[in-house]
Amino acid sequence: MIKGKWVKSPWTISIGTAILSFILTIIYDYSKNKPIADTFGKVLKFILNIIIYVLNIKLKVWWLLIALISIIYLIMRFQHGEDDRPEFYNYREDILKKWKWTWSWRWSNYENAWLITDLEAHCPNCETSLIQSSSIYGIRFDCPRCNFRANEDNCEQPYVIEAIILDNIKRKKRDKSTLNS
Ligand SMILES: [Zn+2]
Repeated sequence: MIKGKWVKSPWTISIGTAILSFILTIIYDYSKNKPIADTFGKVLKFILNIIIYVLNIKLKVWWLLIALISIIYLIMRFQHGEDDRPEFYNYREDILKKWKWTWSWRWSNYENAWLITDLEAHCPNCETSLIQSSSIYGIRFDCPRCNFRANEDNCEQPYVIEAIILDNIKRKKRDKSTLNS
């Protein structure tokens, strides 16, 4: 998890690109001028040269360009959804079947779609978020405030609610297109 984040950070990529190109340059220069000898002293000198090179590093314009382009690309990629929110983005609560439900939308790069997330049922008596739990006996909902309780026979299935939410959005789109035509 942490490793993935680290690899994805724009700094890692830009600094990584810079270091990689720098090392390639060093190896190329070095092998061109002096064939690498197998003595320990020369290896040590080689490492020392790299350290000196790093300390004397001068920024090359194209490194900056690569870093800049990668940063812009990453920002654009991860900001998907900020500028590009669909019309249904604000549709985040409704009374569906017996209860009030709330949810959020999350963009998934993997599925290339908006997904419903944090779907919560609210107590019909006091509107508090119900605690959902499931066991071998099925799903149940409990209100932590007023002790409202619903089990298998009289509670709603979240996957059914999700399907209704998606269908509501489809219906809205359909109504809009018939209105425009
Ligand atoms: Zn309640």
